[in-house]
This record gives sequence, structure tokens and C-alpha cells, in this order.
Amino acid sequence: MPTALPHERARPLAKGSVYPAKDLCSQCGLCDSRWVAYVKQSCAFLNQRFEAMEVAAHGRSRHLEQEDELYFGVQQRMLSGRLRQPIDGAQWTGIVSRIGVLALERGLVDAVLCVGQSSDDRFTPVPLLARTPEQVLAARVNKPTLSPNLEVLEQLPGSGIRRLLAIGVGCQIQALRAVQATLPLDELYVLGLPCVDNVSRAGLQTFLESASRSPATVVHYEFMQDFRIHFRHSDGSSETLPFFALDTPKLKDVFAPSCLSCFDYTNAGADLVVGYMGAAFGNQWLTVRNARGQQLLELVEPELETAEVTSGGDRRAAVQQGIKAYDKALKLPLWLAQLVGFFVQRFGPKGLEYGRFSIDSHFTRNALWLQRHHPEKAEAQIPAFAKKIISRYRLPAE
Ligand SMILES: Cc1cc2nc3c(=O)[nH]c(=O)nc-3n(C[C@H](O)[C@H](O)[C@H](O)COP(=O)(O)OP(=O)(O)OC[C@H]3O[C@@H](n4cnc5c(N)ncnc54)[C@H](O)[C@@H]3O)c2cc1C
Repeated sequence: MPTALPHERARPLAKGSVYPAKDLCSQCGLCDSRWVAYVKQSCAFLNQRFEAMEVAAHGRSRHLEQEDELYFGVQQRMLSGRLRQPIDGAQWTGIVSRIGVLALERGLVDAVLCVGQSSDDRFTPVPLLARTPEQVLAARVNKPTLSPNLEVLEQLPGSGIRRLLAIGVGCQIQALRAVQATLPLDELYVLGLPCVDNVSRAGLQTFLESASRSPATVVHYEFMQDFRIHFRHSDGSSETLPFFALDTPKLKDVFAPSCLSCFDYTNAGADLVVGYMGAAFGNQWLTVRNARGQQLLELVEPELETAEVTSGGDRRAAVQQGIKAYDKALKLPLWLAQLVGFFVQRFGPKGLEYGRFSIDSHFTRNALWLQRHHPEKAEAQIPAFAKKIISRYRLPAE
């Protein structure tokens, strides 16, 4: 008699248990499924395995000597674009949701793993296996909180779903890729979102209360390429705040520890990544990593206005200054924050250089955080590409 595979014998962990990654857990949902059986090898915070993941998903790991690959991962093509007919209520123009809809309509997949919202709170994520275009569209827009996407793996056995499009952020995709070979699927397509500085629901509340004039009515926000946070409120009004006006002393501890120890900003394991930070203001930014990613892009490309990616300015001095300011938790008065914001927006990094600015700033901050809070993990948790990027800056002495 054949012996059962580990996940065939396992049960999801009980809600409320201490999860294996402890305080570094990003609540990706793997442990809420029977695939918890593989958590030691798969969890992004227990066993960082970028090279093996890239080789398995894309056929090779990134070329560290090529700047675009060093920063943005394995790629065949990068472009920027927007839907000619944006989807109302989407995070940007809705390219991600449109790909999900088309993948179902064209019969490429049987279901789309996406994130809806709870009926009583717009920011509480509810992962689901969407079977219809309407369900995919209803799941549009970010729920900017840690989301247990992989808990829905538990629903796969017996569901009839053999071909899946999974939408997710880096930690979710790292775990998904690690268990891919054991899933009851014939085909898996992965549509990734870049992700940084995610928060628990309680952390989000602290952030909104410190940053918005009306935290209770915020329905959408994004840190944008003009160095401002853009909030949209339920009455249709909008509000912006320069990054430099954030209450850093209050917000330093608001980000989830998982996000403070993550170096997968650009979602290295996805077939196609759709974000914004490498594109000109207002556009979305797409990175095709492999042939499957190209297949996903081709679904939507006829509906896009596209443009080449561009790059301008020099981020390096701004990153170096930011390291010191963040470490000292400086809070600027609003008038000074507006002034700094004006100059940085006018003369600062743009396009891919803005993307590199954000990656450098987060990687250096996270390396410091790890060295201070989990020094025993720092060496193994920081991947080679991130070490190379971090080595370009002077970090504060301990
Ligand atoms: C927490 C978070 C942080 C991000 N940070 C960055 C960033 O720093 N730089 C950058 O370039 N891009 C970032 N993005 C991606 C960006 O904000 C947009 O989601 C992306 O460009 C797609 O826009 P869209 O209009 O096509 O999406 P839409 O069509 O509105 O679709 C959004 C999709 O996001 C999924 N989703 C929603 N919440 C979550 C969640 N918590 N976890 C996983 N999936 C979710 C939904 O299932 C939906 O399919 C982030 C996304 C998230 C969720």
C-alpha cells in the first residue's frame, strides 16, 4: 500500500495557535491548510530559498551583475501601461482584476485565488477561489493588511479545480511555489503584486489615525511615485500627504515584523508582476518573468495603452540620508515636509529609479531591523541580491 504524503496526513493548525515562524509569521495562510506539513521548508521566514524558487519557476536564477535583474528579478520584459477603460474602484486601473476575468472567460483556468473583503469591514481580507468574473471583480482593490491567502488551498481537494491563477504578494507566493508540486493541480499561473510595509488590521488603524484627516472614511490609499500618500474617502473626496510628513516615531513599530524582515519586494516567484513603482506617475508597471507571464500579459495587452519603462534622477544620496533620518525617527513639521516633498518630486528619482529608491530604502531599513531584533537570522534571511544592494550604503554603527 502506498504511504500517504505528508499533507495527506496533516491538519491545519488551530486558529490562535503560535505559528512556526512565531513573531515573524506573515499569516500567509499556509498553516491554515493541510500544507502546513511542509512549513519548515516553505515558510518565507523559516527557510529563505530565492535561488531554488527562481530556478524552478523561471528556469534560472536572476543575473546579479545585471542591474535590472538585481533589483527587479528574473525578467523577459518590463513595460508600463494602463487599461484604456479603467475598472471603477480598482486599486490602479485594474489590470490585475482584468487578467483574472479574462483568464476565466477564455478558459485558461477554472478558478482565481484572490482577496475579497469582509461584509463589515472594507479592510479585512477574505481570500477566496473565485469561479466567476463577477467574483474576481468584487475582489478588486487592495486590502492593505496581512491576508491568509493560502488557507484556501484547503478547499482544493475535491473542488474540481485543476487549473488555478493565484494572485498574491511575495510571502504568499514563496510558500505557494514551495508546495506547488504537491498541489492537486495540472496548471498553476502566478500573478504577483509587489508588496512592502504591510500591517495587521490593528496596525492599519494606527496608520490611518496618524496620517489621514478622516480615518473612518478612507476607502483606498496608496504610496505613490510623487512621494505622497493619496487617500480616497467614501464621499469621493481625496487627500494627499507627503511621505516626509509621516509621524515616523509613532509608525516605526506599526509594520508587521514579517514585512520588516522581508526582501521579496518585487515578488521574485511570480510569472507576471503588476505594481506601479517602476512606472511614470499614474501608470502601472509590469514585469514578465517567464512564458507563463507572457501568456497572462497577452490576455490583456490589446486593452492596454502601453509605454516603455523609463528612468531618471539619482536616488543614492536620498537613500543614504533617509537611512539616518529613519533611524533617528525624525518627524518633520508639515511645512518642511511639504517643501522637501516639492523638491524631491521635482528633482528626485523617477520611473525605475524611483523603484530602486524604494527598494534600497526598504532593504537597508530591514537589514538593520533584522540585525537588531533577530541577529541570529540575518545572515540566512537576507538573500544574495539584497546583500549586494545593501552593501552600497553605510548603515549606522550598532
Ligand atoms: C499590501 C500591498 C502592498 C503593496 N505595495 C506595493 C508597492 O510598494 N509597490 C508597488 O509597485 N505595488 C504595490 N502593491 C500593488 C499595487 O498596490 C496594486 O495592487 C497593483 O498595482 C494592482 O493594481 P490593480 O488596479 O491592477 O489591482 P486590482 O484590479 O484592484 O486588484 C487588486 C488585487 O489585489 C488582491 N489583493 C488585495 N489585497 C491583497 C492582500 N492583502 N494580499 C494579497 N493580494 C491582495 C486582490 O485579490 C485583487 O485581485 C501592493 C499591493 C498590496 C496588496
